[in-house]
Amino acid sequence: MTINRRSLLATFAAAPVLTLGGVAQAATTGAGAITHGFTLGDARVTVLLDGHLPVGTQLINGYDEARAQQVLAQGLHRMQDNALTIPVNGYLVERAGRRVLIDTGTAQLMGPGLGALHAGLAAVGVAPDSIDTVLLTHMHPDHAGGLLAADGTAAFAKAELVVAQREWDFWHDEAILASVPEGSRGFFDMARRAVAPYADRLRLLQGEGQAAPGLTALDLPGHTPGHTGFMLDAGGEGLLFWGDLIHSTALQFAEPGWTIAFDDDPALTVATRRRMLDRAVADNLLVTGAHLDFPALGRVLRQGTTYAWQPAPWQFGL
Ligand SMILES: [Zn+2]
Repeated sequence: MTINRRSLLATFAAAPVLTLGGVAQAATTGAGAITHGFTLGDARVTVLLDGHLPVGTQLINGYDEARAQQVLAQGLHRMQDNALTIPVNGYLVERAGRRVLIDTGTAQLMGPGLGALHAGLAAVGVAPDSIDTVLLTHMHPDHAGGLLAADGTAAFAKAELVVAQREWDFWHDEAILASVPEGSRGFFDMARRAVAPYADRLRLLQGEGQAAPGLTALDLPGHTPGHTGFMLDAGGEGLLFWGDLIHSTALQFAEPGWTIAFDDDPALTVATRRRMLDRAVADNLLVTGAHLDFPALGRVLRQGTTYAWQPAPWQFGL
């Protein structure tokens, strides 16, 4: 099945896990705070788990049940009711007296079982108005939703918002909006509403380059047109935040050609994925991703013509 932008958005709208309800009316989440903090060079990084998203295998383009079971068995992973349970992670990076948030979780946009990122920040003693900069990997609701407080105002009262120009333009393009099915327009509405309160403190990235001190933007197009990764240089120690380069830790290292219905351009998604996985192997990069299994830190290994995920040792109590 070929997924183009129209079918992508139709699938997005049809996905049962997604709630398109208005932000202002939504109930607060009962999810608790789960965080993992560690020191890397001159930075303190905290992984903030927003919750988990069940993704049915029918949303995976190229999925083969027998192959999936083989991969799952080899990787010691499990799958429940033909659904992958995919975490949603955001990040706090504290360095040189500045607090940078990379992605913001879902807040109230995607239903129960998600929306805990703000509770995670509170649990580590970080007030929302102490965040200096918010970097978005892209403008899907599981990354941009947490920009908004429950009343629809800015959740981060003093933060500058940084997003790729190409990403911003896509979600604000009236011609693209007019071309998508009626049921898909809610995603444009959510993206626009999430960023609107930040219009007077917005910085749009023109390609690769510095996104914040010590954080360099990387173009990772495919999942969305302006999908962006960030490379942290923490005084000689590096960490790559690759956004949605991988959605399923269990399946997509072994089958990097399998895409998900949320990928805007599947062929470009796969090309970008292979390029970055090759770089991660070659440079032995410490990497993290928005949908890698929590705490989402590890390295990529080459395995034949594909790849494998090697989780980093969990640094307890640091
Ligand atoms: Zn995502």
